[in-house]
Amino acid sequence: MDLYKKIWDKIENSDNILLIAHMNPDGDALGSSLSLYPILKNMKKKVTVFNITKPLPDYLDFLPNFKKITDKMPSKIDLTVAFDCGSIDRLGLESKPSFLINIDHHISNTMYGDINLVKPGYASTSQVVYEMLKSNNVEINQDTALCLYTSLVTDTGSFQYESVNKKVFDCAADLVSKGVKPDYVSQMLFQRNRLSKLRLIAKSYETLELCCDAKVAFVEVTKEMMQITGAIKEDTDTIVNNVRSLATVEIACMLREEEDGIKISLRSKNVDVSKIAQKFGGGGHIRASGAMFKNTADFEYVKSLLKDEFKRLL
Ligand code: 5GP
Ligand code: MN
Repeated sequence: MDLYKKIWDKIENSDNILLIAHMNPDGDALGSSLSLYPILKNMKKKVTVFNITKPLPDYLDFLPNFKKITDKMPSKIDLTVAFDCGSIDRLGLESKPSFLINIDHHISNTMYGDINLVKPGYASTSQVVYEMLKSNNVEINQDTALCLYTSLVTDTGSFQYESVNKKVFDCAADLVSKGVKPDYVSQMLFQRNRLSKLRLIAKSYETLELCCDAKVAFVEVTKEMMQITGAIKEDTDTIVNNVRSLATVEIACMLREEEDGIKISLRSKNVDVSKIAQKFGGGGHIRASGAMFKNTADFEYVKSLLKDEFKRLL
């Protein structure tokens, strides 16, 4: 039996299903995990959509059933399906589930599931979900289509990345044929910024530092900047992508001060930054990855460690 059939078979034979995505979820994490909710409800399953992070990013609040996402575990779970999560620790679970299906597209995925459906070349986890639904002849309703399409848009930087090909556009076109309005999704995702976000972006740009013949750019976000501007974590989302856009830059790195350390976000135009993230205990994709440096607030120290790696890579 192929993996798609095996997964659907398992879903059909389970009553209490947990849909879960990685902590600090993005559009793909929430979009792909919410996409199955209406389908499974129609199948009369007991469904819980779980995420450990609170509060959830409100720019995704237009996704159907967003309000159903909970950080409370149900008492009974027969099957857990993880979406868009490269390693099991990023799910925030207290113990390993009895049966876990891992659906993802991260090249760094550690294959932690009992069934692993991992497609690194795919544009989004939602593209993998779409293919699974199609191959099982499952009808895609409008709410599911909106979730899957939103995931595609957010994980491809609005259809800009290398992962975008004919199959991705065919998938998007099919989802649009189910009633998704691309301009509505764009408005919801990109035209509802908070003032605090723009103020934080302005502050972070003041810290911009170029090195390695201006091929590397560092940008910093401190707790103080967050406090002064009233910004929240999700307000930092676009900073590193914008910094990568500089003509000379090959690798952009954002360092964000957190309670328990410094979180880094890496973006490249070509080189593989997932390897660097993995070296520091993180992971991700070739051109977008991240890691956490625990128990330090020393930006210069973290930068010097990274600079050595970048020099080797460039
Ligand atoms: P971001 O920089 O937007 O947080 O993450 C970029 C990509 O790297 C995402 O696909 C995300 O899942 C992955 N990533 C970010 N931080 C970590 C981390 O600490 N561990 C792992 N395994 N992946 C991460
Ligand atoms: Mn993804």
